[in-house]
Amino acid sequence: MNDSYGRTIDYMRISITDRCNLRCKYCMPYGVESVSHKDILTYDEIYKIVLAGTGLGIKHLKVTGGEPLVRKGCCELIRRLKTVPGIEHVTLTTNGILLEEYLEELIRSGIDGINISLDTLDREAYRQITGQDGLEAVLRGMKRAVYASVPVKINAVSLDWEEMGRLNKAENWKTLVLLAQQYPVDVRFIEMMPIGCGKMFKTVNHKQLLEEMMQAFPGMEREKDKEKRHGFGPAVYYRIPGFLGSIGLISAIHGKFCESCNRVRLTAQGMLKTCLCFEDGADLRAVLREGEGKNLEEVMKTAIMKKPAAHCFEKPEKITEIHPMAAIGG
Ligand code: SAM
Ligand code: SF4
Repeated sequence: MNDSYGRTIDYMRISITDRCNLRCKYCMPYGVESVSHKDILTYDEIYKIVLAGTGLGIKHLKVTGGEPLVRKGCCELIRRLKTVPGIEHVTLTTNGILLEEYLEELIRSGIDGINISLDTLDREAYRQITGQDGLEAVLRGMKRAVYASVPVKINAVSLDWEEMGRLNKAENWKTLVLLAQQYPVDVRFIEMMPIGCGKMFKTVNHKQLLEEMMQAFPGMEREKDKEKRHGFGPAVYYRIPGFLGSIGLISAIHGKFCESCNRVRLTAQGMLKTCLCFEDGADLRAVLREGEGKNLEEVMKTAIMKKPAAHCFEKPEKITEIHPMAAIGG
């Protein structure tokens, strides 16, 4: 459907759990408030919401979390979502720790693509950021997915490495960029957003990062027909001659893309969120469990029509979202 600003909303991110097996410094360094199992949407409830969503034109789904692979039955949910008429793509965002273990099952479920969050290729820096010595496990999962011809995207939050007290930042992004030389993966850099613990970190300006990349990789140029290769997300893609994969920049702060935003988010507790910046949305769990007579599709439509024109990250005093990114799903 189109929202009140004429944007086509056809993509829903679904967080299936608040829990995670990592403790990324900018996301949930101390874990999350424990939520009782009964407060989390069941897979049947998620299925019903997706069915209603297709009535409004939702076509693309991303299963996320917390860490989606820590919730039992994640692959079975993906298999069910793939059967919903009108759903064209179901993809997953994972930290990759459990990817090797679940890859075969994900492929059998019909997964259309996997985004792996990986901020560094330095083992000690990885441990410092995430709290776990997990780099090798993530890389094994990534390689197996690539060899199985699953489309893979690497998502790296751009970190200020002086602030992190480790490698200098050029070394870090260069090693990540070089993954796209060796493997047919899109390596995407994400500007830190002032959500949850992200507020405590500097946002690396991607305009500057792009200049540095172009100097380091002469011939790097913007892709023209990115929709054909990468879908309709907010990343701006670049090709480097001889590379198997592309480089993407997702620049929510220094390259605001709200006028083309195509998404809504469903939290694990059933809130349909229409913008990262604001708490507003619709409590779909309440509609499903207590809303006698209320029509799910109508409630979702009303929320989407109230989707704000733009985020307000540049005016932090206006941000009303208080949940960490792990509760929202990224
Ligand atoms: N656990 C899974 C993972 O890490 O891919 C899925 C959930 S995680 C919240 C989704 C994405 O959000 C990750 O790529 C993570 O790096 C990113 N993220 C978390 N906090 C962020 C912030 N403050 N700004 C930008 N991205 C953030
Ligand atoms: Fe977990 Fe993902 Fe948040 Fe890291 S970014 S703590 S992996 S939910």
